[in-house]
Amino acid sequence: MRSAVDNQASKRIVILLGLPGSGKGTLASLCTRELGWPQLSTGDLCRRHIAQGTEVGKSIDFAIKSGKLVSDSIISNMVFDWLIASFAGVDTVVFDGFPRTAEQAQLLNDFLTSKFPICKLELVKLEVPDQVVRNRIANRLICGNRDCQAGYSQVAGSSFCSKVANQCDRCGGVLKKRSDDNDLALDTRLKTYAEHEQRLLDILKVDDNEIVVLNGNRSIEEVFAEMKDALGV
Ligand code: ADP
Repeated sequence: MRSAVDNQASKRIVILLGLPGSGKGTLASLCTRELGWPQLSTGDLCRRHIAQGTEVGKSIDFAIKSGKLVSDSIISNMVFDWLIASFAGVDTVVFDGFPRTAEQAQLLNDFLTSKFPICKLELVKLEVPDQVVRNRIANRLICGNRDCQAGYSQVAGSSFCSKVANQCDRCGGVLKKRSDDNDLALDTRLKTYAEHEQRLLDILKVDDNEIVVLNGNRSIEEVFAEMKDALGV
């Protein structure tokens, strides 16, 4: 008989990689909506802690505002708690924003070996030119409701514009700018991403040819369709 969390059943984690603003969060939300894969967004989890004023939230607020990474142990503990709860009853989950450092990749490997030994990692990288992500982030707003955090664009005519100005289509929350969506913090985030990507891939032991690389500078529907083809879902 199967237990509620069947650690021995085969599991899959789809890990989305790519620069800030490359579309990982939007793609992860589509995976949840269309494929039923629970989505882990570490950025959303961090912002929720800050909005709730938890002890963790107070300790990470400054790092987030400045575009710096939160400590590996804080993030990893959040992720592992989430994973234990979310792998119950599903075989696939999607990660947006984890792992981001070699240390996190190692902690993830160790955690999976002990808790979910039959787990396959699929890596999907969204490639988008720097200038395009800069433009997207300069024009990005998110829903201020900490349980929603849906993303919107302020570019007139974009398919990501909210239907009513400054109001979230999903929950009616007021839209706001993210505290780290400014030039200074973004420079740090882009630099940090570039510094860590190869080292974390080395730890996960994936060769370039095992990563699904998608052109993220297209409509999200096209990106999603190509991702499903590549993963055979
Ligand atoms: P983006 O990818 O657009 O920079 P996210 O919403 O994924 O934005 O993350 C926002 C911030 O949350 C990061 O700049 C960092 O401070 C923190 N964060 C998110 N994921 C991690 C992680 N895996 N490790 C450390 N810090 C993280």
